[in-house]
Amino acid sequence: MGTLRRVVRKMEGYVPGEQPSAGTFIKLNTNENPYPPSPKVLEALRKEIEKGLNLYPDPLATTLRQTAARVYGLGEENVIVGNGSDDLLTIISRACVDSGDSVAMPAPTYTLYDTLVTLQEGVHHHFPFPPDYSLPAEIKSFPAKVTFLANPNSPSGTAISVTQVEELARALRGILVVDEAYVDFAEETSLPLVARYPTLVVLRTLSKSFSLAGLRIGLGFAHPDLIRGFLKVKDSYNVNRLSLVAGCAALEDLPWMLSNRDRIVKTRDRLSQGLNELGYRVHTSRSNFVLAYRTGECQEKIYQSLKERGILVRHFDTPGLKDSLRITVGSDSMMDRFLEEMRKIVKGLP
Ligand code: PMP
Repeated sequence: MGTLRRVVRKMEGYVPGEQPSAGTFIKLNTNENPYPPSPKVLEALRKEIEKGLNLYPDPLATTLRQTAARVYGLGEENVIVGNGSDDLLTIISRACVDSGDSVAMPAPTYTLYDTLVTLQEGVHHHFPFPPDYSLPAEIKSFPAKVTFLANPNSPSGTAISVTQVEELARALRGILVVDEAYVDFAEETSLPLVARYPTLVVLRTLSKSFSLAGLRIGLGFAHPDLIRGFLKVKDSYNVNRLSLVAGCAALEDLPWMLSNRDRIVKTRDRLSQGLNELGYRVHTSRSNFVLAYRTGECQEKIYQSLKERGILVRHFDTPGLKDSLRITVGSDSMMDRFLEEMRKIVKGLP
């Protein structure tokens, strides 16, 4: 133990959602897409495998950066590619957070931010969301080195407007990281702000809307000065060959992603309505999941009963969230099964 850094010895480590290897679960706990990726992705993967995997991938991910730049209307020098957006979050915290630096975020939010700040020996400051999950007002005037904003947020699924993001970007002196992992399920993006605010970083992932969680592809957009700094910090070959070609193919087939997105958004409305009928309240979701709650009633037992019935959802054992369940929007048939089991559980039926 003596060789581990003190901070590593003391920290708990980030706990990802369960990824069961046994049993056949309906997985509604880690916000994966129920639909397959574009057939063009599979074709690109096949071709790349045939070409061979003996050589390292392009360390700068040039083709994927160019493709992302074209698709999202920015320059190649504005883009960095990560092994998932988690990798980009690690790169940003390594590049920007020194020991003792203040890092701000609304709370509750994606808990990986805290883990990364702790590893850098930074100091995190949580600004509690008001009950309607609007932006906590005090965060704007807090002098943080880095501010993380998941928008849409997890686990609430809610989003703040781009007008408000812009006000925040204007008010802050430090870096603002807008994590848009779920933005394809929302109505607006902060991406156009990147050209105007040199301290703004916008993160995207192909894990959710593009159905590629298994390949780990994240995109970061920022001013070229920031991108150059991030590139110095990343692992040389952080994105493998298969993910690079898959990422390009996925971005070249936006209609595929958009039609799956539309299906998920429709199912999300049905799911929210079904939960309302069961006595749950649901925060207005702009994501591919919903946060449903019964004020003051701990949902641990419901989570367990669902698990026994082969359905995995997420329950957080944290103050303020114990009365809530986070449920990924699956296909219509997955949601039918979920709602049927929920009806039985709520009525006390086997
Ligand atoms: N940001 C948020 C808010 C998330 O919920 C997730 C998924 N756990 C990620 C980033 C990471 O996504 P990935 O590493 O798969 O790109």
